[in-house]
Amino acid sequence: MTAQTSSATTRATCEAFDRADPIRAYRDRFRLPEGVIYLDGNSLGALPKATADRVKKVLDVEWGEHLVDGWLKDNWMGLSEVLGDKIAKLIGADAGEVIVVDTTSINVHKVIAAAMLMRPDRRTLLTDKGNFPTDVYMAQGLVEFLGRQHRIKMVEEDEVAESIDEDTAAVFCTQINYKTGRLHDMAKITKAAHAKGALAIWDLAHTAGCVPIELNKIEADFAVGCGYKYLNGGPGAPAFVFAPKRHHDKVRQPLTGWLGHTNPFEFGLDYKPAQGIRQFRASSPPILGIVAMEAGIDDMIEFGIGNVRAKSLALTSLFMKLVEERLLKHGFGIATPKETERRGSQVALTHKDGWAIMQALKARKVIGDFREPNIVRFGFAAPYVRFADVWDAVENLVQVMEKEEWKKPEFQNKKWVT
Ligand SMILES: *Cc1c(COP(=O)(O)O)cnc(C)c1O
Repeated sequence: MTAQTSSATTRATCEAFDRADPIRAYRDRFRLPEGVIYLDGNSLGALPKATADRVKKVLDVEWGEHLVDGWLKDNWMGLSEVLGDKIAKLIGADAGEVIVVDTTSINVHKVIAAAMLMRPDRRTLLTDKGNFPTDVYMAQGLVEFLGRQHRIKMVEEDEVAESIDEDTAAVFCTQINYKTGRLHDMAKITKAAHAKGALAIWDLAHTAGCVPIELNKIEADFAVGCGYKYLNGGPGAPAFVFAPKRHHDKVRQPLTGWLGHTNPFEFGLDYKPAQGIRQFRASSPPILGIVAMEAGIDDMIEFGIGNVRAKSLALTSLFMKLVEERLLKHGFGIATPKETERRGSQVALTHKDGWAIMQALKARKVIGDFREPNIVRFGFAAPYVRFADVWDAVENLVQVMEKEEWKKPEFQNKKWVT
């Protein structure tokens, strides 16, 4: 795949890239509506075909027939860890270090609190202005709860490493910026944190399932991630938490529910945390949600995260090249870094009329999304997006601009969910 080098790209060139794509066959694993070009897998991943059968089995057999015995008979009680061990393979963690529980926001609370408790003499939580709002909100809520001495220090994205000081308890960043797709150097920032005695916490919401990383190799302290983006786990799917074995003995997290107890069915009245990663679980696992994630994660392991990354970079490079050739003259800018090692799996265009343009594009069945104030966002989920789709998306966008379709009144009003 040399999408970025050839000069005169045509649709035929893109079709040739598709024929040469070693993971092209995997597109058939997904259910995708006819005629739709889906470039929003960074917001909600597509449905793996195998998921429907797996969920149906739970309804028909496990819940339907086994009732309460399903907790053991069908291993419902162990699924959070089974899936955690699978996700571990995608993010460079070991078995027993990842668990599928709750949501990203809730898990952010747990890991920030755990890190602050491990550095009781320090008062600062460091984050950057490119972090996702819920991450910052959760940090604000926690810091307020901890009391006046604690504070959040928020710096520019490229100033994180040098902003760490002796009062920093933890650095907390999202590796890939949800708007621009800019990618942090996790190894460098983690090392800088450790050099000052601070911990490093990573949100992998836009990383897991599209960019290979090595959490243990870089000695990350904690991480969280999202189940419904590139892991294709379904709307509102549970999220995951990573805590390395070296922290298991001393770590404590504040949401001490009964299923994080060492023996929940002892029904004692003193909380004793479970050994290992299981203490990050608070409540009964949402079995339907967890089961719906399994096929997507199994598929992703089979596709090979290295293959996925290679194709994703070729897709985003091709898209940016075509935008430069055909769309800059219509007032678009590119907010995503050009260097492959500095970007994730999405491309953000800027345009002052971005909202209306995206609505007009969606009317042509090319699905991306819009982020305030002017970002027109396209995600490239490599397992199911084709090079020809990239061509067609750009062609449709050119049509939307040349025919001024975005000026139609029905595309002007903003909706509640963008
Ligand atoms: C998508 C995303 C979330 C989502 O949080 P929920 O609790 O699942 O709503 C959180 N953080 C980041 C960085 C995200 O990209």
